[in-house]
Amino acid sequence: MDFAQAFPLAFGRSGVKLKLLFMGAFLIRIGAAVLVVGLLAGCNGNKNGRNARAPGKLKSAFLRNPNINIPIDPARARAVTYSRVSVNGPYIAMTFDDGPHPVHTPRLLDLLKKRNIRATFYVVGTNAKRYPHILRRMVAEGHEIGNHTVTHKHITKINIEQVRQEVMGAQQAIIAACGVKPRTFRPPGGHTNDRLKVWLYREFGYSTIMWAVDPQDWKRPGPAVVANRIISNTSAGSIILAHDIHAPTIAAMPQALDGLLTRGYRFVTVSQLIALESRGVASTAGL
Ligand SMILES: [Zn+2]
Repeated sequence: MDFAQAFPLAFGRSGVKLKLLFMGAFLIRIGAAVLVVGLLAGCNGNKNGRNARAPGKLKSAFLRNPNINIPIDPARARAVTYSRVSVNGPYIAMTFDDGPHPVHTPRLLDLLKKRNIRATFYVVGTNAKRYPHILRRMVAEGHEIGNHTVTHKHITKINIEQVRQEVMGAQQAIIAACGVKPRTFRPPGGHTNDRLKVWLYREFGYSTIMWAVDPQDWKRPGPAVVANRIISNTSAGSIILAHDIHAPTIAAMPQALDGLLTRGYRFVTVSQLIALESRGVASTAGL
């Protein structure tokens, strides 16, 4: 391209020098463009490199849970407790305890949203009071919120009136934060007994939700270990336990969630899973 010809008025008779300067600037711009393209290619290269170590990750970036519209029927939650639900289909429920956390939980919500996954959050009442906006976001994005007491006390170690205060207080904090009454209860630390399960069911209408898959993420064994434990131990009807207050747990989620989606599992909330419970099939989960 001849810039002196293209812009004769600007260059005039002494256009040769200017032309050279202009060409120089043009070449610098081309050089910069090549550099940018190179950097972008380099980024992709790194991404591919990571994906090479985590099979299916590149593909999984586009994985999405399908829309699953399951009406919740409170009368169907007949069992006092569940650790898994007998279902006719590849349905599973991901649960996250002890939050919300001001940083980690929103990051998790982003990961879930990207994949169209609905989860269940067993929140602690003190955190519900502290971060009500996060509970409102959970509800707005289709997640379910469950009761995990006010202060995470082990309910086997306090008297029944204290249990009532812990459970009622958390219920009120959740309703105050997001306007939705929780449907199920998870005992802090998993510490409970048959007597308390029956009492919670009668007093609050809560089924006690335990779990079938525990990756022990709170011990922080590393994101890859957490993801692999979740993937390898999950089967249809599984309720999976994790905690949204630990950064490595959140880091494990892309691999765990995509691994489960790749294997054909479909995510629903705990109450949806219960609503899908196969009738006429003996459930060993109930008391
Ligand atoms: Zn807990």
